[in-house]
Amino acid sequence: DGSFPYARSPPDKLLGGLLPDGLDERSCRSRYESSMYSRNPARRPSPQLIGKLRRHEELQRRCGPNTDAYSRAVQQLRAGKSVDSPECKYVVSISHRGLGNRILAAASAFLYAVLTDRVLLVDPSNEMDELFCEPFPGTTWLLPRRDFPLASYTNFSIDTAESYGNMLKNKVLNADVPPATATQLPAFVYLHLDHDYGDEDKMFFCDDDQRLLSNVQWLVMRTDMYTVPGLFLVTAFQEELDMLFPERDAVFHFLARYLFHPTNHVWGLVTRYYRAYLARAELRLGVQVRNFDPWTQQSPVVLRQITSCLWKEKLLPEVLDTEKHAMPMMPGGSRTTAVLVTSLRSWYYERIKGLYWDHATATGEDVSVHQPSHEEQQQYGKKSHDDRAWAEMYLLSLCDVLVTSGWSTFGYVAQGLGGMTPWVLHKPTNVTSPPDPPCFRDMSMEPCFHAPHVYDCKLKRGADTGKMLPHVRYCEDVSWGLKLV
Ligand code: GDP
Repeated sequence: DGSFPYARSPPDKLLGGLLPDGLDERSCRSRYESSMYSRNPARRPSPQLIGKLRRHEELQRRCGPNTDAYSRAVQQLRAGKSVDSPECKYVVSISHRGLGNRILAAASAFLYAVLTDRVLLVDPSNEMDELFCEPFPGTTWLLPRRDFPLASYTNFSIDTAESYGNMLKNKVLNADVPPATATQLPAFVYLHLDHDYGDEDKMFFCDDDQRLLSNVQWLVMRTDMYTVPGLFLVTAFQEELDMLFPERDAVFHFLARYLFHPTNHVWGLVTRYYRAYLARAELRLGVQVRNFDPWTQQSPVVLRQITSCLWKEKLLPEVLDTEKHAMPMMPGGSRTTAVLVTSLRSWYYERIKGLYWDHATATGEDVSVHQPSHEEQQQYGKKSHDDRAWAEMYLLSLCDVLVTSGWSTFGYVAQGLGGMTPWVLHKPTNVTSPPDPPCFRDMSMEPCFHAPHVYDCKLKRGADTGKMLPHVRYCEDVSWGLKLV
């Protein structure tokens, strides 16, 4: 019907079969409209992934909240009883910290749920319910908090007695000598997979431990990381992962495009901004500036790092020295580029915008520079703040080329959603001179798993987990992190 003015090819509403058909379009417009805005060539999900997702949706419907199976499972949890071969098993996902961390955490919990045939239920705090549409047809992925028996689950931490790590330490559980029957297992196990986790918690990534955990009906998982590269190191999951994801560099791409659809309010922020400021440019360049150290918040050195990355990699035309060069005779003759800057502050945006106003470009190209918001401070639990963060991640993902800041999960989400391998700005460390080179082209669009285990489960000793498999490598931004390539 001609309603795809921004995409390069006719929109593919269901993203090659990734999305289920039959969900209400009006209550979640982004799900079916996003393909109208995305210009990057879409990756095709494998038939195995499509089949697995349809079966998983069926499981979520059969065992999810408001079913008899769910009531029975909750009763067993309340009674603290475990049963032999339960009809439905669950993983409750608590994600926390910034929105980027939460999205990576929920995606990781989902893949774990898919691999282990568990129902995924997400903790509804942190606006998880207001930022994202329901991903599964005919059921909810939100944990009904009111009658969930583990009343204080959101406070679970590294010290919680029921954590897998503590149960191993205290010899309540032993993966080498699993109990004879599942009824001797606890009714639930808390998986503490936060960045601060200990060696015993990390045993989660070992085969024997997965075998033990597979008999526990309820798992409560808390993480703020993209743990998927760790799942690729578990032998028991490898065959299925290979089938589901023949393109290993696109695992998060598919998980994210399947799970995370902005709710209508956020989608309005995305689409209004896109149409007003970005749609008409011939090239959209996203530049994500994340300043972790206070001195980098407005630093001429970091500004130099950013511009030298953009110029060296020919992502933007250089500017002419107006004193020395006459104005180009036919300005505006060639293409236009829109730069989308996202950042908590406006300092870099103002400088880059000023640069392209004060000076002509060497190519005669027109460059416009835009920044949707500058929230100044990172905040927790404030709705409009998260809405904007989510809208800006999504806008970055709709760009044609992306420059991100190393270490930032905000950038990881944008690159994965958009299917783009970014140029990554090195984390600046020197107050007087920018890193050289200023940025690097990443190995893949996958997020980095920031705190992986460093253990060989078979040899039972320390190991270089980034050297065990050709497709699980050490990241370039976080040198001890792992990523899929
Ligand atoms: P990370 O800390 O860079 O890994 O990313 P997170 O998304 O986990 O946490 C940073 C949080 O700070 C975001 O969720 C936002 O709330 C806020 N934030 C950081 N950068 C930006 C930005 O460019 N735009 C907006 N709107 N918020 C940002």
